[in-house]
Amino acid sequence: MNVIGMETSRLTDRAKAVDRRPMTFLESLYLWSIVKGMATTLKHLFRKKATIEYPEEKRPFAPVFRGLHVLNRDAEGRENCTACGLCAVACPAEAITMEAAERLPSEAHLYREEKYAAKYEINMLRCIFCGLCEEACPKDAIYLSQTFAPANYGRKGFIYKKEELLIPHPIHQQEEYEKALGDRKPAAKS
Ligand code: SF4
Ligand code: SF4
Repeated sequence: MNVIGMETSRLTDRAKAVDRRPMTFLESLYLWSIVKGMATTLKHLFRKKATIEYPEEKRPFAPVFRGLHVLNRDAEGRENCTACGLCAVACPAEAITMEAAERLPSEAHLYREEKYAAKYEINMLRCIFCGLCEEACPKDAIYLSQTFAPANYGRKGFIYKKEELLIPHPIHQQEEYEKALGDRKPAAKS
């Protein structure tokens, strides 16, 4: 009871009254407490391990997992991105920066549209992996893959440049391309 005669309210019902009785002789030896502690340790020795041997063993992700971004190419290996900027505008973390450039006639095999991203960067330290950039993109040029950004010692290592984000070439690096694609369907020919 408090000073005004009302019971003090509790945030939870888990509070326990502290036992302040003097210890018995057996309790003062701490043997029973040690046995109880060891029994708890032994019990966990025979349980299924919650940890895994990463990086040799990898935990499967949920199908809805959103990881590291990938800049997509079409079936001929041309970059899909037209540097329209919609992904950057949609990004709530302002993690995307880009510079647009005009495609030259000799570059038609490199870029799908007349405009392309000469520079495209994502700051993974800002990114919250919400997936809004993927949803905003009208060209299927960016998606969040089932892998994550590896650890790094420096902040600069988390600023991913276009070269690191681009998916491997589907014709020249077929094996790497299929691996990066994962469960996604390959791009249709246009
Ligand atoms: S996943 Fe979200 S936070 Fe990350 S770059 Fe895309 S829009 Fe921005
Ligand atoms: S990734 Fe998509 S939304 Fe972003 S600039 Fe390229 S085409 Fe536009």
